[in-house]
Amino acid sequence: MHLAQQTILVVMMVVFSCTLVMAAGLVLALRANEAGRLWATGHVIASGAGLIVAASVGGHWLHLGALGAGAYIVGRLAIYRGVRVYYGLPERAMLLRGAGAVVMVLLVLMTGLPDGRLLIHAVAYGVLAMTSLWTIVTMLRSTRGRRSIGGPLVLASHLVLLAAQVAALGHAASYQDPAMAPFFVQTAGSVWPLAPMMAVLLGLFGFSLMAMEQIIARNESGARVDALTGLLNRGALDLAAVGLVARWQRDGEALSCLVIDVDRFKQVNDTHGHHAGDGVLREIAAALDNSRRASDVAARYGGEEFCILCPHTDEQQATALANRILRKVRAIALPGNGGHASVSIGVAQLRGGPTSRDALWRSLFADADRALYQAKQRGRDQYVLGSNMVPEPGQDDALQSPAEPRMDCAPAA
Ligand code: GH3
Ligand code: MG
Ligand code: MG
Repeated sequence: MHLAQQTILVVMMVVFSCTLVMAAGLVLALRANEAGRLWATGHVIASGAGLIVAASVGGHWLHLGALGAGAYIVGRLAIYRGVRVYYGLPERAMLLRGAGAVVMVLLVLMTGLPDGRLLIHAVAYGVLAMTSLWTIVTMLRSTRGRRSIGGPLVLASHLVLLAAQVAALGHAASYQDPAMAPFFVQTAGSVWPLAPMMAVLLGLFGFSLMAMEQIIARNESGARVDALTGLLNRGALDLAAVGLVARWQRDGEALSCLVIDVDRFKQVNDTHGHHAGDGVLREIAAALDNSRRASDVAARYGGEEFCILCPHTDEQQATALANRILRKVRAIALPGNGGHASVSIGVAQLRGGPTSRDALWRSLFADADRALYQAKQRGRDQYVLGSNMVPEPGQDDALQSPAEPRMDCAPAA
């Protein structure tokens, strides 16, 4: 199929009108996502610029064509900034904005030169090719977002754009268009000139998917994480617990649970206010998080109660974690001269029974919670094992933390 220049110009106007409307909607839809906002805004600018270029070809307006080409580059650079933001790189906003403005002014000034059209063609396509190449390299070098569905679409679109832009540069020697038309309009005669426009559409779709994926991932993690402490919340703990119980059923490896409650925390709030109390809770949560192994699951169960699940760990082995936590929390200074924080811990191991995973998890938690209650009864700042909670007379020492000498604590700050 052969397409006349006029047909390609019409297709160009239709495509850029569509991307303009879509991108304008996406500016609103993706405003919560910084990269998405830049991608949508970049596409609005590039689409508007594409329409200007198409109009300039029809009217043989060279200045307008150069201005449109410059604006198109500004849009593509904004899209590249979005890629940098998405992958956690410095945005380089000033540099890239400045570069876009300089190129735009240069292109317009070049219209007055004898070889102006050829220069504009070479500079515009050179900058566009470099922008596409940077985008591709940035995406390939980043490990983040590898599993994204939108990423490969964006990569494919930029590979097509880069190929077209390099072909346009190679075409510069034979450049003789009087109207400053884009390369793909000049090479009318086959359907290939449509490829760059299809690539722009594909890219816009891919970028929107990437931004949506990021928004969804953030919402999901927000629903799983406790806002105050950054640990998992209770819902996420329940989910993880049922999974670990299933593994326990399958592998028969020990599974232990620590339930941890801050001692006399109401006093901290009453004396120093809730805000100070929140700060102490955050510090205690960090101490728990730093004490656990990577495979352990730490969560804020409620108010000032926490829970850690330890796969492949029996009750005795879990006491090492309990001791580490007791020590680290004792090193946390309370506001004012309120001394140091402490916690009480109940430790239990999943023993089993032919019942549902949910019921097994509830019974494991209940065992640890009963042990915690005992730890409070025994004076706080200690752990108690669930396995041997009700002591035989004279066996008291065997079931609670060896009354850890306070000299074991970190010195008061
Ligand atoms: P015990 O040693 O027996 O556990 O004494 P306690 O004072 O810690 O126990 P109690 O259950 O009476 O008090 C718990 C307090 O924790 C009461 C509540 O105001 C406080 N609390 C719960 N959630 C939060 C929170 O998110 N922030 C702050 N600052 N305080 C909280
Ligand atoms: Mg409590
Ligand atoms: Mg408490």
